[in-house]
Amino acid sequence: MRDHVHYCLQRREKYQTKIRVSNGRELQGLQTAMSETATKRTAAVIGAGPAGLMAADVLARAGVAVTVYEQMPSVGRKFLLAGRGGLNLTHSEPFDGFMTRYGGRSERLRNVIAHFSPQALRDWADALGADTFVGSSGRVFPKAMKASPLLRAWLRQLAAAGVTLKLRHRWQGWRDEQPVFDTPDGELLVQPDVTVLALGGASWPQLGSNGAWTNWLAEAGADIAPFTPANSGFLVDWSETFRTHFAGQPLKSIAVEFDGRSVRGEAMIAASGIEGGAIYALSSRLRDAVMKQGEATLHVVLRPELDIKDIERRLTKPRGKQSLSTYLRKALNLSPVAIGLLQEAAVASGTTLARLAPHELAALVNHLPICLRGVAPIARAISSAGGVSFASLDDTLMLTPRPGVFLAGEMLDWEAPTGGYLLQACFATGVAAGEGALAWLRQRGPV
Ligand SMILES: Cc1cc2nc3c(=O)[nH]c(=O)nc-3n(C[C@H](O)[C@H](O)[C@H](O)COP(=O)(O)OP(=O)(O)OC[C@H]3O[C@@H](n4cnc5c(N)ncnc54)[C@H](O)[C@@H]3O)c2cc1C
Repeated sequence: MRDHVHYCLQRREKYQTKIRVSNGRELQGLQTAMSETATKRTAAVIGAGPAGLMAADVLARAGVAVTVYEQMPSVGRKFLLAGRGGLNLTHSEPFDGFMTRYGGRSERLRNVIAHFSPQALRDWADALGADTFVGSSGRVFPKAMKASPLLRAWLRQLAAAGVTLKLRHRWQGWRDEQPVFDTPDGELLVQPDVTVLALGGASWPQLGSNGAWTNWLAEAGADIAPFTPANSGFLVDWSETFRTHFAGQPLKSIAVEFDGRSVRGEAMIAASGIEGGAIYALSSRLRDAVMKQGEATLHVVLRPELDIKDIERRLTKPRGKQSLSTYLRKALNLSPVAIGLLQEAAVASGTTLARLAPHELAALVNHLPICLRGVAPIARAISSAGGVSFASLDDTLMLTPRPGVFLAGEMLDWEAPTGGYLLQACFATGVAAGEGALAWLRQRGPV
């Protein structure tokens, strides 16, 4: 028989937990938490990513006894990974432009992000000692560029506010209206006054964001859009020669074009296809096209700062005894991977680069087609689209079929490009869900 442990969060208890951050250091003693009085209102926050921790922060500051439940052995694993390449917290562009990044969900998220704005997020990070700066692209980063110092300071602040952290507690839905967890000590049922779910999306499942919660929320009456990769790479049938020589190499200072949109930036050749910042910026449109038609053609502009006449003029200079690669490198300053890509495109259209006339070669440099044959697996995408529909939530982010349960973060059905828009919406929905939960508690008595 399974070990049924049923406890009430209002019970007086004291315990210590170790928090391990990705660099292996342990923060000990942060979790000496004691519920102060038997009358304190209680909240369960499930999922210790940025959205859940922000909801916990809001509730704890207001005097609610908060317990955060996390299935992994440590908190914020995806947040820490996000910090590896330079933690892009938010973006400094004007608010109206900022909001367009959320596409069809921009109206639904507008008030939420206006309430906890990019500036409010910067102020919050600054107050934690993670001073931010605006990079040349307008993106906002903490000066340390990584997430671990910010997360450590935040966890200390949460512990000081009395937040209790329960690691290795995997939520498994509800039984008799009570959240039920699988824990190292067996099954656990809890009875919080209010619950916030911040379970993340479905990319990078090894970090905890595995989307395994969809059935329990669907059973609870939530409308759930299927998960699809967002900010993901795409599959390309490279030739063996190209793949062997160029997988892992960047295409710098290019532009990519699809469906009338052009984005400047960088892409990376992968063994199975193409990925990187410029690709991610177009990925929602590319994904929709690939999923609908089975494939899509992306165009790469290898020298976006030159117009086609200039490119053609440079290519009419005599080649002499130079190899074609040397000639293209000198005439257009093209990298070996860019020249390899031209060769791939020429072969795919039934010819070779050497046979092309200067005007044909110029056209290829200026508008090089790559056929995308599939979307890279969601497990490697930066984020996911899909999740709980806003139609299932009220304005306070409460799940309408289950009063007293609030939702936040990437588990909701919105998507945005990279550039800080993902974390901004996670933090802002965390604030909104935390405040929604607080208001709900206050309607039912003093907090
Ligand atoms: C490589 C990479 C780089 C990124 N860089 C950036 C960036 O620079 N800027 C940016 O804005 N965004 C970035 N992102 C995206 C960003 O990290 C996520 O959007 C964000 O972490 C989502 O926050 P969240 O709190 O909603 O969910 P998550 O961070 O995914 O947290 C959800 C938590 O819930 C837990 N959980 C799930 N199910 C259960 C359960 N049943 N029981 C208990 N716990 C559960 C998970 O273990 C996890 O800890 C990046 C993502 C990746 C993968």
